[in-house]
Amino acid sequence: MDLNVHLPTLMLLSIAVNLLVGGLLWAVYHLRRRQACFRLWALACATFVLGSLLAGARTLVDLPLLTVLAAHLLLGASPLLVLAGIHSLMGVSATGTRRSSRFLTVAGVVYVAGLLICFHSDAILARLLTALFSALLFALAIGRLLTIRRKPRLPFRILQTLFAVHGLLLMTQVLVIVGDRAGLVSVDLEAVLTLILANHLLLASATAMALPLLAFTEAERSLRFLAERDELTQLHNRRSFLQLGAAALDRAKRARQSITVLMIDLDYFKRINDRWGHDVGDQALQMVARIMVEELRDEDVVGRIGGEEFAAVLNTNDRHEVEAITARLRRKLEERGQIVNGLPLHLSASIGGVATQPTREDFSDLMRAADQAMYEAKRKGRNRVELHSLVT
Ligand code: GH3
Ligand code: MG
Ligand code: MG
Repeated sequence: MDLNVHLPTLMLLSIAVNLLVGGLLWAVYHLRRRQACFRLWALACATFVLGSLLAGARTLVDLPLLTVLAAHLLLGASPLLVLAGIHSLMGVSATGTRRSSRFLTVAGVVYVAGLLICFHSDAILARLLTALFSALLFALAIGRLLTIRRKPRLPFRILQTLFAVHGLLLMTQVLVIVGDRAGLVSVDLEAVLTLILANHLLLASATAMALPLLAFTEAERSLRFLAERDELTQLHNRRSFLQLGAAALDRAKRARQSITVLMIDLDYFKRINDRWGHDVGDQALQMVARIMVEELRDEDVVGRIGGEEFAAVLNTNDRHEVEAITARLRRKLEERGQIVNGLPLHLSASIGGVATQPTREDFSDLMRAADQAMYEAKRKGRNRVELHSLVT
């Protein structure tokens, strides 16, 4: 097999790619209200470019301080900055990572000390140390990405795969060097290392290109959150609730099952605002939202569809179950609404509920019917539950 690759060309190409992507990341950093991860990743590209240039200069000048020590320190810093950028993007708390950062500090000290000892006499050993250190960083980065439960998973999977392949490649490099030193393998060391370096350059460039993908899906996620959620309570807003409700109804129809829609309107809420002020009213609304999230199940859709109007979709039409859920919800609202932040608000809510009968109605019919049931609860004295069936 011909192992020859034209390394200078490949190096120049990967330097160019990293410069371009680094420049893009730097521009994004300035455009996107200075989000730190982009600066860290732009720096990762820059250190990679500088490190590669210095390492490449080894054939031209005999200055190991620059072409080995400085080059490897920069090349080792690049994955470190990638990892730091992931931490920064995901807002990972310091407490969760204290152990790994202590481990990282020790590894970093050993790495730098090793480089200082060997850079003058043994460039290959310096390469081995950088490969080990970088592989460790990639393993930590994979671990970090695995602990983040965010959707969509695609950018995470792409990065995990790149890190895994890259880490394996670097460990292969370590094994080849160790095997060669121990006389266990007889290969053309330079040719194998060149091939590994070529793949290393490709992977570094691919990673640089995949990082913005992660950031853009994160941006999309937070924008979608802003568009779909109510700012005060973080529940689904009216538009999002209607969409999710209609989707839940479609699913239920296909599975020949039923759903229940609840409408929850706070009683005499205007008086609370008039008596205690709008801010206290807002705090009460936030508390109501918390109670609804706590009392309903994760798979239920919960929204704030108007000022002091909330709604929910439950994946059941079992009357006993719905009665139990709504009775508990009403009771909790009344109990915890007695005193809110030390003020005697005496909150209560009127709840109307309606279940689909198998088949035809659409979601707006259900909302209307649930609204009527809720108004009946108001008429009958408030702080109570009215459950209707929707007859088609
Ligand atoms: P009812 O029992 O008949 O529902 O009486 P109510 O006072 O709750 O009904 P009404 O619809 O007349 O009043 C709703 C009040 O909700 C009016 C408004 O002051 C208040 N409200 C609406 N949105 C907000 C909000 O975002 N924050 C606060 N603090 N109050 C709000
Ligand atoms: Mg009201
Ligand atoms: Mg109302």
